[in-house]
Amino acid sequence: MKAIGIEPGAGAPRLLDVPRPEPEPGEALVRTLRVGVDGTDHEVIAGAHGGAPAGGDYLILGHEAVGVVVDPTTTGLEHGDVVAPTVRRPPPSGPNQYFERGEADMAPPEATVERGIDGAHGFMSEYFTSAAEYLVSVPEARAEWGFLAEPISVSEKALELAHASRSSFAWEPGTALVLGNGSLGLVTVAMLAPDTEVYCLGRCDRSDPSVDLIESLGATYVDSRETPVGSVGEVHEPVDLVYEATGHARHAVEAVTPLAPGGVAALLGVPEDWEFTVDGGAFHRDLVMNNKAIVGSVNSGPSHFGAAIDRLGRFPDGFLEDYVTEVAPLDRFEAAFDPDARSKTAVEFDTL
Ligand code: NDP
Ligand code: ZN
Repeated sequence: MKAIGIEPGAGAPRLLDVPRPEPEPGEALVRTLRVGVDGTDHEVIAGAHGGAPAGGDYLILGHEAVGVVVDPTTTGLEHGDVVAPTVRRPPPSGPNQYFERGEADMAPPEATVERGIDGAHGFMSEYFTSAAEYLVSVPEARAEWGFLAEPISVSEKALELAHASRSSFAWEPGTALVLGNGSLGLVTVAMLAPDTEVYCLGRCDRSDPSVDLIESLGATYVDSRETPVGSVGEVHEPVDLVYEATGHARHAVEAVTPLAPGGVAALLGVPEDWEFTVDGGAFHRDLVMNNKAIVGSVNSGPSHFGAAIDRLGRFPDGFLEDYVTEVAPLDRFEAAFDPDARSKTAVEFDTL
């Protein structure tokens, strides 16, 4: 069967011919429909993050998938069920406490592998297998957009953690600042905009389609070259929530400044090492004296996938069509890997 993979040092994905996987009892064989591409895939392709399974010389890419069950074996699923797979699986040493509790998303990096990212093949192949516990049901009517369950679930988890950190007092976020106008930032603007005054920070000119999308959602674009994160509170207004999706390490510190008292910053970016100077005293004092919080969040679990699949039905009309700018068929899959795309792209392997 055909698969899209990356070999170490190659710098670009290529089409591979690999054996079709055989499901074990308790696993389902899934025919792949669509697989999304995000900033993490570009980091894996660049060799900055993740890598092939132990002992292997290539990695099948793809961690944002939707497919249809063609062989349920003993799983209890049915032939024709539409499913989205979660990303994390036990490491080669076997299941650990995080997997036993059903909280794989809370495992530290050494206690998990991630399909399509680090240590396990992903879903960019005509078929894949998965144990049933890692497959979330998608209503057939949402199959077309089911590949977005994974990226949206990442935001569902981060927002849940942010809310949980503020749960001991009356906290009703009315304002939010999303850092980053890439695929994760844009979908989070769409999630927050109906109930919240949203600002979204990027560093591109206003002629960019991402800015049109931000404004079409009723949010305000902030150009970080004119208004750095630390000035947003003065130029616009202090915000109850900051959601960081740039991977720009300074933002982890700067995000605290525009927060209103009692606010929380959720960090999602995965930066490389970078040493820089900060006023640690001012940072520490602001957090304490204003009851502010910072929370880091990675990956997501089945409950977040469930919330994401519900969310797919609540976006404003036309948003998904504007957000997903490329669904490339397999014979021109390269179009889904444009590193300059600020919107969402995907590869289509098959249709329902
Ligand atoms: P993208 O690369 O698509 O988006 C990042 C965006 O941030 C780009 O649009 C970029 O602008 C913008 N940006 C970067 N630096 C600045 C800056 N200094 N000022 C203003 N804008 C800036 O990535 P994704 O949206 O897919 O992911 C965002 C981050 O989240 C990445 O670091 C990724 O690794 C991480 N991630 C984390 C997950 C988790 O579970 N925690 C899951 C998925 C992703 P430009 O295009 O102009 O350079
Ligand atoms: Zn992703």
